[in-house]
Amino acid sequence: MTAGYDGKEQTKKAFISIHAKIEVPFFPSKVGVSDHSVGAVPTVSRKTSWRFSSLAFLEDGPWDDVDKAISLFEVWDGVAIETTSNGLENGDSTGAKRKSVPQHGQNNPLHQRPHLPLSPLTPGQPIGLTTPPTFASALLIQNDTILHVGSPEDEPITTFLSSNSSSSETVETIDLAGRSLLPGFIDGHMHLMIMGQSLTKLDLGPCKTLSDIQNTIRAYAAAQPDVPRILCRGWMHSMTPGGVTAKDLDGLDIPGRTERPILVDTKDLHSAWCNTAGIKDLGAEEWKDVPGGTIERDAETGKVTGVFNEAANITYVWPYLARVASVEERVAAIQAAVEAYHSVGYTGAVDMAMDEGAWDALQELRRRSPEGKIPLRIAAYWLVKPMKTDEENVKQVERAIELAKEFNAQTTPDCRIVGVKVICDGIIDACTAGLSEPYEHNGHREVPLWTREQLEPVVKRADEGGLQVALHAIGDETINTVLDALIAHARPERRPRVEHLELSSEKDAERLGKAGITASIQPVHADPAILRAWPKLLGAHRCKRAFAYREFADHGAPLALGSDAPTAPHAPLPNVYVGTTRRSYREPEYETTVNPHFALGVAEAVSAASQGVAYSCHDENRIGALKKGMKADFTIVDMEWEKEKMKDAKILETWFDGNKVWMAKN
Ligand SMILES: [Zn+2]
Repeated sequence: MTAGYDGKEQTKKAFISIHAKIEVPFFPSKVGVSDHSVGAVPTVSRKTSWRFSSLAFLEDGPWDDVDKAISLFEVWDGVAIETTSNGLENGDSTGAKRKSVPQHGQNNPLHQRPHLPLSPLTPGQPIGLTTPPTFASALLIQNDTILHVGSPEDEPITTFLSSNSSSSETVETIDLAGRSLLPGFIDGHMHLMIMGQSLTKLDLGPCKTLSDIQNTIRAYAAAQPDVPRILCRGWMHSMTPGGVTAKDLDGLDIPGRTERPILVDTKDLHSAWCNTAGIKDLGAEEWKDVPGGTIERDAETGKVTGVFNEAANITYVWPYLARVASVEERVAAIQAAVEAYHSVGYTGAVDMAMDEGAWDALQELRRRSPEGKIPLRIAAYWLVKPMKTDEENVKQVERAIELAKEFNAQTTPDCRIVGVKVICDGIIDACTAGLSEPYEHNGHREVPLWTREQLEPVVKRADEGGLQVALHAIGDETINTVLDALIAHARPERRPRVEHLELSSEKDAERLGKAGITASIQPVHADPAILRAWPKLLGAHRCKRAFAYREFADHGAPLALGSDAPTAPHAPLPNVYVGTTRRSYREPEYETTVNPHFALGVAEAVSAASQGVAYSCHDENRIGALKKGMKADFTIVDMEWEKEKMKDAKILETWFDGNKVWMAKN
């Protein structure tokens, strides 16, 4: 008997799902490949090995049969080339013993082989975009582990059933009637506690103008007389093109009462804006400027006007929000986020800006949970804020190293510190992303928040200390800088990563891929409905380089899909929709596409949202795919495998560790 997450005892320990469409792993990991001793793999590039094995799958069905493959593809530079021998000498497809296969390089005889068409791929096509998924029809799990993925007639399932035939109490069969069963999604980039807190904040997302914002807040204040602070989210600079100050938020509270602090986050969380009562509550008059951030001030009086950007927001406003929230509120926020995540099919998440306040709350929630388990597998990157000296910066890395010694894959695999995160620029909408050429509309050239020289000691120390490095880089200049730092100082086996990658040069897309650096991308940020200002800010020529996902993948970068919630909708399938159609999820009738030639394939995007994220933090042998021996984390979805239909997919159930943790009503 095991305790379920609802606290009830669970007696049924084995489940078989049948008549399901079970997505089998699409991009198996390097480790998975070498397990099967496909001779070519250890000697070819990461990219080739991934593609190679995925295609073995396509041709030959279940993973276990890879040895019986009669026809495998080799992939060279993102293009399919057929080879007819499973790592064997040409024509010898039945021999049991493998011989060595060609080495990566100019003399590879695969280059000389004719390109043979073999369904469903056409040689010469980019792989990820066009490759359909493969499906199995039955999944057997026992307790928290997957025992078999295949067909109900497979020997492991029939044997299991016959040896447990008398004990219908301990085996349950679920007929999924053709629904899809996917690996539990893992959000590759999100902010857990702020996500939970934002669930209770007033959403200004639907507002279009300053007066919409004011009316929305006024109505909320009247309806919520008891909340001590009015916290709002979803403001975009494009709603207030003339700029804002505290005065714009004054006088919105219930007439006659002392005004409560009002604090508004931008949708991207890079800026905050408050009223005069908020300035007082924050203590913002006392704040000193910080590197990489701005505290907006009146040009004449020098007084704080109520808007805080970038590092000033992170350094002052985030800790304030964490501080004014009680432990109870913080724990409740995380709990709410976990539940919201289950409801859209997630079983894991990567927190991209962990700090003391959120970490404390997370540990408190662990203490309160049955067996100390939060039903979401959490990997966290510790946020390193920009300080005046290298020593102060590195000191924050030391704190992360210290925490990772205590909380790691061995000790607390489901709540661990895996690396550090540095926010190296802002965002394009606020004109704070670091660009190689000036912004089009005002001629201003923004530089990255961290220079290469400032980054280096942080990257070096983190890498030496066994941590992964995740660098936020949105503009092309910043992407260039962070790649310099990562390629020089982060060893590839640690799997360094770059977050966002919104406007990259062709050269850097290639550098990223060739270095095997993870492209941590959030397609929901590429939603055309929120990019309407881009042509004005960047000029049409630069917009052509936006969100170059296809290039990252084709050059060999592992992909990890994330939502960056709460800055964007957190559900994974809308993310897949935008990443594959390059159309708007927010406004489905809006027909504009964003650089559709950079689109991902459906199976590729689904895989990047599960296995790709697991790989990005060294967890691909345990989670992110439906394979024998892996954790029984999955989600059951009513969906069709077509990119246009991804936005209509309905999550029916979410299972974590072999337990159902969420079920749709009706
Ligand atoms: Zn983020």
